[in-house]
Amino acid sequence: MNICFIASECDPLIKVGGLGDVVKSLAKELVTLGHHVSIILPFYKSIKLTNAEFINQKTLNLGGVYYNFNIYKTVVENIDIFLIYQQNFFDREYVYGTPKGPYEDNYLRFAFFSLASLETLSSVCIIPDIIHIHDWHTALVAVYKDLYFKHLSETATVLTIHNIAFQGIFPNHVLPQIGIPWELFNPEDLEFYNQVNYLKGGIVHSDVITTVSKTHAKEIQTNMGFGLEGVLREKRYVFGILNGIDTDLWNPATDKNLYQNYDQESFKEGKEKNKVYVKELFGLETSHKRPLAVFIARLTKQKGLDLIEKAIDDAVSIGYDFIFLGSGDYFYQGKVLDMVKRNMGHVAARIEYNDVLSRKLYAGADMFLMPSEYEPCGIGQMIAMRYGAIPIVHKTGGLADTVIDYHQDKEHGTGFSFEDYTYKDLLYTLARAMIVYQTKNCEDNKEWYKLVFNAITQDFSWRKSVQEYVKIYKTAKLIRMH
Ligand code: ADP
Repeated sequence: MNICFIASECDPLIKVGGLGDVVKSLAKELVTLGHHVSIILPFYKSIKLTNAEFINQKTLNLGGVYYNFNIYKTVVENIDIFLIYQQNFFDREYVYGTPKGPYEDNYLRFAFFSLASLETLSSVCIIPDIIHIHDWHTALVAVYKDLYFKHLSETATVLTIHNIAFQGIFPNHVLPQIGIPWELFNPEDLEFYNQVNYLKGGIVHSDVITTVSKTHAKEIQTNMGFGLEGVLREKRYVFGILNGIDTDLWNPATDKNLYQNYDQESFKEGKEKNKVYVKELFGLETSHKRPLAVFIARLTKQKGLDLIEKAIDDAVSIGYDFIFLGSGDYFYQGKVLDMVKRNMGHVAARIEYNDVLSRKLYAGADMFLMPSEYEPCGIGQMIAMRYGAIPIVHKTGGLADTVIDYHQDKEHGTGFSFEDYTYKDLLYTLARAMIVYQTKNCEDNKEWYKLVFNAITQDFSWRKSVQEYVKIYKTAKLIRMH
């Protein structure tokens, strides 16, 4: 099949969160299966490519305004990547917005990118079997394709919802500026409480909708669709496919950034050495018998920082140390720094996005904290398990599908999870985990190591999920043809 991804992120060129991981690693797996995959991305300022080949300059009419843009091409691991350069929209420091909030013209930036991506396909003469779009930023591709690209009528559109909390909702007066006729401003289409909802438009105009875990597929149609539950229920084709991770890229046995490499046989010694190393790096001079829990995520409300903030002082008093690595909202940056101040010597943090540091932390951590309020899939907990860091998670979405609670199933347990989204439940779970952790230091009881072994030997590769995507693509194509 000829598949084209249109997305706002793709690791390693540009990654803000899990979307970047998924776009790259799914594309790579599809290529391995023999499919042809191309990816269209905005050419952001932070993408530093010296080998990108200039393909073409184009002009596009969006809502009566003419915009010039350049198309570049590069090839990464047999994937053709097309980059769209438009100075006004993409030559900026950040991808979506500053720590103060999203860019005000995001409605125009991503409408432009969606239309320009379809123009790019025409320009390079590709008629894919499947256009696979991701989240609200590229949802309008499905709408523009139906409106203006009749020669793509046999191309099926698959929309993956990675984070339904973000829908691209804007005042209805933007419609003329983004070149969408008022006829589509109705409850069966882009209208949403008298505003324009890009994701809703994408749902209505795509052939198949997927989200990133089975549990979350149910959640978005029942209680966690952020207002789109009904629209999704009406759509017959909504599937949940768990994300995988690139197990070559995330491998503690070969990761060059670790103090010491290790695998499922040598993790006891290997993880201890990495722990000592990262604690030193972050200036934590406490006994290494204390468990080290790390948090690596975007600093936003979704990631459970409100619960952590309330639980952390007690957690430190029962024997935990913590390291935070994250960037994001100023508000939550402040909360993290406050937790450090209150627990000097036991809690450390870096407010930044740093891939190398994240790897060192996954390797050095005993536990990985991810008490997200909601989590469509979550990549962090899978990487953590691959590196033998035991996840402590809120049982929601993909976290529910990937972490087996130790006390529910001691034989197969891979972590600890809690059901009520309260700081008390988090604290109670940290206390449960602490009791099991303490067995690490007993000669005759190796419960903790069994847990780490279970986690480190889980298969989170794309092997199964990529097959499911291929089935979905075939289904989408069938729907489109009939
Ligand atoms: P989301 O997509 O909601 O941000 P995921 O758990 O799906 O959350 O994916 C997060 C990805 O981003 C993981 O690969 C994680 O390691 C990485 N990440 C998040 N914050 C940072 C950071 N500050 N530094 C390095 N990597 C980070």
